[in-house]
Amino acid sequence: MPQVRFGPAGRPMRYSGVTELACDYIREIGLDAYEYQATYGVKIKKQSGLRLKENSRKNDVLLSMHAPYYINLSSNKDDVVERSIDRLLQSARAAEWIGAYRIVFHPGFYTKYSPNEAMKRCQNSIDVLKEQLSSKGINDYTFAPETTGKKSQLGNLEEIIKICQNNDNFAPTVDFAHLYARSVGEIKDQDDYSRIFSKLEDELGLKTLHSHFTRIEYTDKGEKKHHALMEKNYGPPLEPLLKEIVERGWDVTMICETPFRDEDALLIQEEYRNILN
Ligand SMILES: [Zn+2]
Repeated sequence: MPQVRFGPAGRPMRYSGVTELACDYIREIGLDAYEYQATYGVKIKKQSGLRLKENSRKNDVLLSMHAPYYINLSSNKDDVVERSIDRLLQSARAAEWIGAYRIVFHPGFYTKYSPNEAMKRCQNSIDVLKEQLSSKGINDYTFAPETTGKKSQLGNLEEIIKICQNNDNFAPTVDFAHLYARSVGEIKDQDDYSRIFSKLEDELGLKTLHSHFTRIEYTDKGEKKHHALMEKNYGPPLEPLLKEIVERGWDVTMICETPFRDEDALLIQEEYRNILN
């Protein structure tokens, strides 16, 4: 049986305990993944990180980590690139403590560069990052650059695939809502999802996937706002995606990024189980 897991992006809605024990709660409500959010800075200390890891293993909850938002590996400003690399280093260290199987991050912005130039700058920064990781003895990591939602951001599906082809220990995070927003609504049915999976399989040999889902509002510039799962006037469509996951038989982890995180993750899981049966 393929492993398909669902969980919240960040602390569950009704959980008020410590982060270290959040996986007790996540397992109790019936979910089996958790994306720890370091989106406003990596603040977790080693001891609590280790406890979070232990607690997630005990509950068989798969942990991933979202690195800080303020990262731009293709910036024209040296200090921005330096700080971005630094945040990814801190993320990798914390990911080791908490046992995160993926470190999700948004690679950067095109700003004044052409997509090609921005990609080159991004790769140069990744080279520096990898050097620093190895000089600090951090070897056990998988960075997971995410498909981004705004057209001004580096990170369409092709770019994310290329970054992962060029770097060991890199695997994609596919945010289906971001792909949908970026393409201004061009994901309509299962065939559209199927093309995404085929591309990942053909170009990266994948049979496992780390992914994000939310309902999303967009403009002609791409992503505008995340919405609840119930707000079905916003895409992307969920049912054809879950059908595609079932038919592909891949191991998929789907992190729910709606405003209702774990509550909506449970609804997605329920719909998935209905399709399975
Ligand atoms: Zn996302």
